[in-house]
Amino acid sequence: MDRLPSSFPAFPEFSPGEVWLVGAGPGDPRFLTLMAVHALRTADVVVHDELVDRRVLELASDSAELHSAGKRGGKPSAHQRDINDLISQLAKDGQKVVRLKGGDPFVFGRGGEEALSLARAGIAFRIVPGLTSGLSAAALAGIPATTRETNHAIILATGHRAVDATSSREWEAMARTGQPIILYMAISNLADIAAAFLRGGMAPHTPVTIIASATYASERIVETQLVDAGRAAKREGIVPPAVVVVGSIAALREELLATLVSGSS
Ligand code: SAH
Repeated sequence: MDRLPSSFPAFPEFSPGEVWLVGAGPGDPRFLTLMAVHALRTADVVVHDELVDRRVLELASDSAELHSAGKRGGKPSAHQRDINDLISQLAKDGQKVVRLKGGDPFVFGRGGEEALSLARAGIAFRIVPGLTSGLSAAALAGIPATTRETNHAIILATGHRAVDATSSREWEAMARTGQPIILYMAISNLADIAAAFLRGGMAPHTPVTIIASATYASERIVETQLVDAGRAAKREGIVPPAVVVVGSIAALREELLATLVSGSS
């Protein structure tokens, strides 16, 4: 890495036949970790999720092979088993393989499943955590995950499953904790999830902030209330990727915006 002090620790060697599961953060390459940049520059092959920003992929060396594999909301996507097989095969062929995933690989990113598959196949791997979108999109929008005045826990939840009897009870139980909830992959089920939160006892006027495409030029932020959250997302034409912050912390934004400097330039 250029211009780091000489006291800076050396980066680990990327051995042929290893897989590094790397988090790409929320999008903008400036939120990558130094370890992620090192991995990208050193890899022979980068197997990346659809969601990963072009500008991140451009950090790979010119000779690196890029493979797109992975989930993309609403579109047909590669089967997890095929992705696992591809990564294992590339490693067995002696390549230095980066498996690049949006946000943090171990937060709703199937990185856990991929790590298990590598461990079972006897393939050496390393984890390079990334900024998870739920916390970083909220932070950049002026929403702290915790303050001593508002909450002593924060729930990260995926909203991709349809709300049925079982999941409805889970959502209601989450609401009863009284702690804020950050939802990933929840836009299409938002009205149903909000209704379950209301059944769980959350107040209709509970603040909700929806942050779509955080760190991209197309970023959108919608402030609403629980009772109107599903309608507001539709009305404003919010599309994935988006995270939804539900609870007292969402309202702190209003005060922080007085002097919060945001935007990418
Ligand atoms: N491993 C990822 C999450 C993968 S699931 C992480 O740690 O962030 C994909 C979901 O992440 C999206 O549906 C959306 O809820 C969220 N997401 C990813 N990038 C985002 C972004 N730039 N802005 C808002 N939400 C984002």
